[in-house]
Amino acid sequence: MGKRDYYEVLGVNRNATDDEIKRAFRQLAKKYHPDISKEKDAEVKFKEVNEAYEVLSDPNKRRNYDQFGNAGTDPNGFGGFGRTADFEDIFSGGFGDIFENFFGGGKKQRGFSNQSIKGENIAARVVVTLKEQMFGKTVKLDLNIDKKCEGCEGTGAKDPKKDIHTCTSCDGYGYVNLEQRSIFGIIQSQQPCPDCKGRGKVITNKCSKCKGQGHYRGKEAVEIELPKSIYENQQVRIREKGNYGLNNGPRGDLYLEILVKSNRYFKRVNDNLHLNLPVSYLDALLGDEIKVPTFDGDVHLKLSSNTKTNSIFNIPNRGFFKSPTSTKRGDLIVNVIVTIPTKLSPEEKTILQKLKNSSSFKITDDFYEDL
Ligand SMILES: [Zn+2]
Ligand SMILES: [Zn+2]
Repeated sequence: MGKRDYYEVLGVNRNATDDEIKRAFRQLAKKYHPDISKEKDAEVKFKEVNEAYEVLSDPNKRRNYDQFGNAGTDPNGFGGFGRTADFEDIFSGGFGDIFENFFGGGKKQRGFSNQSIKGENIAARVVVTLKEQMFGKTVKLDLNIDKKCEGCEGTGAKDPKKDIHTCTSCDGYGYVNLEQRSIFGIIQSQQPCPDCKGRGKVITNKCSKCKGQGHYRGKEAVEIELPKSIYENQQVRIREKGNYGLNNGPRGDLYLEILVKSNRYFKRVNDNLHLNLPVSYLDALLGDEIKVPTFDGDVHLKLSSNTKTNSIFNIPNRGFFKSPTSTKRGDLIVNVIVTIPTKLSPEEKTILQKLKNSSSFKITDDFYEDL
């Protein structure tokens, strides 16, 4: 049958004290209890853990097991099998705390009904231009969220005073005791009450707007001020603009994902704004004053004569803000891209032909001497 070693099953060593064994068992029994465990083979593992504990918690059986292995505990061997008293002790004593966690405070508190729970967070995506990213923006969003029903104040009852009653199935506790027979004896456990779904209360006359749910799906317009010079993919949290909270709990939060539209010419690099600026080759050659577009309006820039492509010019204080609250800014860094015309008229061609033969336009042919 290939049984696993009992010590291994409980995760203790061979010299483990009774207390260590007991502690290990409690932990694993909670972990694999079929009623609450999400583990795949919970039931099988639960049995395995119980079997191991049954043997290792009994000094006689443990001695037999240590000496003879599984043969020492097999029902058909001489060790015997079938003591359940201690097991039940552990069980009834050891599970209270789990259910307290599950049901929000043990038996003293009735149901879940009074516990306020924060609503779910929601997320929305906001796409801004580079300029909006720099200066901030008022974003208007139409959110589709779970809203608390105003008609019944979230209770789900037509008349919250008259139409909500204590559940008679569970007496308002929200959970019921279940007894299950197992090979180890009777297992007592608690389950959410099926009649009130753990709420401890039932509604006799439902609110028509939310159909007794206490909430409904609806639109909500929100206005958000995006700070200056926010970073792309920076998470922005707006408190309590998410889904409704249960039992007057606070609303969840709204998380914004900020995306920035790409721009053909401009790019953000830390606090600086980079611009790849096409410049006529004549302006570059002659060193003219040119107009540089910025997010603050045009700026004039005097080029030096014979400006080459990839020449860099710094225009201070036209970049991104150092922080959302700062007035200090980075620079606009202009990278000149000397650009030739794509089309020429016949007259232009004639003029250029003349220029072509003048000395400054001749490319050196020194290299012929090196051939
Ligand atoms: Zn109930
Ligand atoms: Zn309602």
